[in-house]
Amino acid sequence: MMKMNVTPMMKQYLDIKEKHQDCLLFFRLGDFYEMFFEDAKTASRELEITLTGRDCGLEERAPMCGVPFHAADNYIGRLVEKGYKVAICEQVEDASLAKGIVKREVVRIVTPGTILEGSTVSEGKNNYICAIVNKDNAYGLSISDVTTGEWSVTYIEGEKNTRKLLDELAKYSPVECLLDQITYNDAEIYDFIKSKFVCMTQQIPNHCLDISLSYSLLTRHFNVSSLEGIGLIDDRADTLAASSLLYYLKETQKNTLSHMHTLSLYNVDAYMLLDMSTRRNLELTETLREKRRKGSLLWVLDHTKTAMGSRYIRKCIEQPLIHADKINERLDATEELKNNALLRADLFEALDHIYDIERLMSKAAYGTCNAKDLLSLKASLGVLPAIYNLLHTCNSTKLIKLYQNFDALEDVFSMIDASILEDAPLSLREGSLIKDGFNEEVDRLRQIKKEGTSWLMAIEAKEKEKTGIKNLKIKYNKVFGYFLEVTQSYHHLVPDYFIRKQTLSNCERYITEELKQVESDVLGADDKLNVLEYQLFTQVRENIVSQMDRLLTVSHFIAELDMFCSLADVADQYHYIKPVINHGQTINITGSRHPVVEKIIGEHSFIANDVYLDNKTHQVMLLTGPNMAGKSTFMRQVALIVLMAQVGSFVPAENAEIGVADRIFTRVGASDDLASGQSTFMVEMMEVSNILHHATKDSLLILDEIGRGTSTLDGLSIAWSIIEHIATEDKLGAKTLFATHYHELTDLEKNIPSLKNYCVAVKEMGEDIIFLHKIVPGSVDHSYGIQVAKLAGVPSMVLERAKSILSDLEKDQTHHLNVTADKPLPVEKMDKKGVAQQASQQLSLFENKHVHVINELKALDVMDLTPMKALQVLYDLQKKIR
Ligand code: ATP
Repeated sequence: MMKMNVTPMMKQYLDIKEKHQDCLLFFRLGDFYEMFFEDAKTASRELEITLTGRDCGLEERAPMCGVPFHAADNYIGRLVEKGYKVAICEQVEDASLAKGIVKREVVRIVTPGTILEGSTVSEGKNNYICAIVNKDNAYGLSISDVTTGEWSVTYIEGEKNTRKLLDELAKYSPVECLLDQITYNDAEIYDFIKSKFVCMTQQIPNHCLDISLSYSLLTRHFNVSSLEGIGLIDDRADTLAASSLLYYLKETQKNTLSHMHTLSLYNVDAYMLLDMSTRRNLELTETLREKRRKGSLLWVLDHTKTAMGSRYIRKCIEQPLIHADKINERLDATEELKNNALLRADLFEALDHIYDIERLMSKAAYGTCNAKDLLSLKASLGVLPAIYNLLHTCNSTKLIKLYQNFDALEDVFSMIDASILEDAPLSLREGSLIKDGFNEEVDRLRQIKKEGTSWLMAIEAKEKEKTGIKNLKIKYNKVFGYFLEVTQSYHHLVPDYFIRKQTLSNCERYITEELKQVESDVLGADDKLNVLEYQLFTQVRENIVSQMDRLLTVSHFIAELDMFCSLADVADQYHYIKPVINHGQTINITGSRHPVVEKIIGEHSFIANDVYLDNKTHQVMLLTGPNMAGKSTFMRQVALIVLMAQVGSFVPAENAEIGVADRIFTRVGASDDLASGQSTFMVEMMEVSNILHHATKDSLLILDEIGRGTSTLDGLSIAWSIIEHIATEDKLGAKTLFATHYHELTDLEKNIPSLKNYCVAVKEMGEDIIFLHKIVPGSVDHSYGIQVAKLAGVPSMVLERAKSILSDLEKDQTHHLNVTADKPLPVEKMDKKGVAQQASQQLSLFENKHVHVINELKALDVMDLTPMKALQVLYDLQKKIR
């Protein structure tokens, strides 16, 4: 476009747009943000707003559309949600003082990972942006939530580190990822991010990975002289990831990011490793199908009162601990608050008054918080002394630590209390923000505003008396302001110090020095007051920002305390017990219940079950039982109980001894991943492969119906060999719950000493069955599939036919698919070849309908047949087959 011909304003627009080509530019014109040219077309389409045009000096009008500035957040949020970046360009000088065109600058770029308000930023959830850098075969992953100031970094090195990186990303579900060139071009990483999350990805420019830039960025941000002070090593991938993220945030947010006051360094191995499918299968924070919070573990455990607490408990569920001491510290805190209901109630009462301090502080850091926000902050700080006093009585290590390091922030409270008016308006430019007594000048100006009229009346009375002009009057008009009016009849009494302003036919108008002074005070008071109050407000805000460290530390304490109160409350309400965490390898739970199912159907309707697993005698629990009996529920509840214990929660059981699990893996049900182009069976096998490669003997494995997605003998063989692999100590040796409908597998109990058969008991009532949901030792030999189909309402014609097919199939035991009955597959022969052999023997269901023909053939005494008879038999058999 020819910039030369365009209007000056449009030239300014084009210059700015040129620097922000990847963004939609919101260009401030008065009370609107306007967009032009392609941006206007895109925005009008996406936001469904009218596209107009504006003369811009060119032959054709420039396409234009706009949104009012006060409603812009909503529009920006919608565009960002649709995957656009929005650059906000403001007028950065007072329009009335500007010479020529008003100066404008981009003051912020809004992206999915940097948006502060809008529907994507929900209260109980973080909004994460991350940066990944690969250097020397190690990954640096830095994660931040700019709405709360949370910022961390981890270094992932060694074998299988790509997998660890992906599992770590699953924990955060980032909405925006910055990737260095290597990771950007790594198909495994890139595809994972694109297929698993709704996430904007961008490549980190190479110059951002410069070591000296990284060093100076980080040392300046933290005001330290070397990186050692913050625990980083100069040229490692983690340092570069943290600095790239900081660089990007500074570039887009264009502020000092003072709320990102600490960078927490952590080790991924310090937490339980959970892969993406396990998180989903266990429905930790949302349900598998509907993606709803209700029905998830978080839904059960989150009784928190504050937004910080709610985010924190979610985070702890996403990353359970693996160090017994730390787990016990949390459990002790939960226990103390569970046992002391009064203390808990008082703490909850106080916590209920606390607003989202983290997000208020981030608004303060961005300079966008208003007086209402400061009042919310004040209300929150107002209850801190009460919380501090309550903690005084606590005995558990964790709560004592909170007490000892607690800062009740009374000075910050007083600062807001002394300055900000209780009913201050949202707008910061219209006064009524500052309390009386806080600032002398404010008080004086307010006095003037209030008393201005009486001062004028006093002047009038005084001058009347002094001059003897009986009808002297103070009047006002827009041109002259206040003046003294003297009619012609009193003209001779006008004193020297009256300054004539205007002569009319029957009167003269005068001012005096005193009147001028009062006038300037009265008329200017309003404007001066508004400006002064705004200045004072921003000072208070800056003073609060200068206390960022203290405020964010306390808000983290509040989050922790809120979580413990919540866990204690849940434990009390649902009758959970404190698990015993052991350093050994035993999981021994009696009377265990599923926390979510129990909450839905009621504690008394849920049938409790026991589980015992260890790495020596009871490694694999092989579970058979009818469909709908409760196998999946049972296996998930064991996994959830172990996970809950490691979060620091009490558990739904009568007794629980938990050997800490380093990882929990689940392979549950068939889930297609059509989006990534994988078949059901492929997904199943990929998950199995992941488990077999990454589980250790300290892991807990939940395997539900492995091998169901392929033909029977293939599936059976795969399931079989997986169990052997898991149960053999020198191979994997992990504790495993394995549910299956392959009843043949129960024979493995004879060959594998650490495998125990269990089944879910049912009661047969004629043709129907009653589910007892009770796990008992032993095995069942059929699945009651037809009865369950009946319960599900499958038409009776279909059920009758199914029964007759089943009885036909069962008649011929020699061709029964059961390979174990009298000839168990020898364990040592189940190598690749063995599997292939079995597979080749397979009779599909279609082949099975010829079983009778085969039987007839078998029964035939060939030597006893005449050639004619033989031909006839052959003809009949062929007819049957056809
Ligand atoms: P399938 O083999 O078809 O997957 P399943 O054996 O895994 O079935 P679940 O899905 O675990 O069965 O359970 C079926 C239903 O039974 C659950 O939705 C739950 O409502 C109920 N149920 C399961 N376990 C119990 C229990 N211990 N007490 C009460 N109800 C239960």
